Amino acid sequence: MTEFSSSGITNKINKLIEKSLASKKPFPHTLLISESRKSNQSLVEHIAQRLNAKLVVANGSDIERPGDIGGLLTNMEDGQILFIDGIHRISRIVEEYLYPAMEEFTIDIMIDRGPSARSVRINLPQFIVVASIPDEGSLSKELKSAFLCTYRFESHSRDELKAIFEKELKKSGIIYDADVLDLLAEKSGKNLTEGMMLLKKAVKYSQMSESAQLNRSVLNECLETMGHMPADGGGSIQNRTVIPDEIKREVWRRDQGKCIKCGNNESLEFDHIIPFSRGGSNMVRNIQLLCEACNRSKSDSI
Ligand SMILES: [Zn+2]
Repeated sequence: MTEFSSSGITNKINKLIEKSLASKKPFPHTLLISESRKSNQSLVEHIAQRLNAKLVVANGSDIERPGDIGGLLTNMEDGQILFIDGIHRISRIVEEYLYPAMEEFTIDIMIDRGPSARSVRINLPQFIVVASIPDEGSLSKELKSAFLCTYRFESHSRDELKAIFEKELKKSGIIYDADVLDLLAEKSGKNLTEGMMLLKKAVKYSQMSESAQLNRSVLNECLETMGHMPADGGGSIQNRTVIPDEIKREVWRRDQGKCIKCGNNESLEFDHIIPFSRGGSNMVRNIQLLCEACNRSKSDSI
């Protein structure tokens, strides 16, 4: 039975986080092996939250040239986490920069062109790389060796998931309809971590509801109200980028709680002025408040 493999991973990671915090030593570079982007994402968000670390999200396929990785790494801070989703898709040349950067926290950058071209070694902050690959074989041996921690998620059949959810719901004491198990299994996309997250929300939401009962409509209402990203849609890099709360607060204060384009103070969103995919950072100066409409017209024009 691999029933608790995902929560097993979380337990192991929690142990390591405690050690890292207690010893004040950086959390090791970590590789996640899973076909589910959703589980990778929830796990890296969990790590960032527990370490109280800022999280920068990048997509492997967007890191093509040495300048791309150079830009990302030189913008990092000590203890910050760089999540490279699909690291197997970075180019061969980037790999040659990334590997020593992860091991020695230095990067050699070429300046000038032609006869005066020379490389300069730059010291980097003690960043942490968490990266994901779909399966074991997709990463080169060299790059794999830069990751001291490796975790693999098992995927679960629908019936396995339903059995786990049933057990958890019984434990919670919530009254539930049997078809809720199907809906949970469906929404979790074969993924236990995702399923457990949904279950946690559903239990919390039912406890807050008057009837304290969980059925399909309560579950749908819960996902609607508490926010849920479907397991099949990864979302854009920008959407998947987590802006730390303190940064959000500062941006909100600076922009006085309204859209900087039209002054609207409803449906506000935090917008990266330079998108992440183009090397934009999570710094206050790169983030602005836009209303939904202005944000949409901006992304249409990019
Ligand atoms: Zn606006």
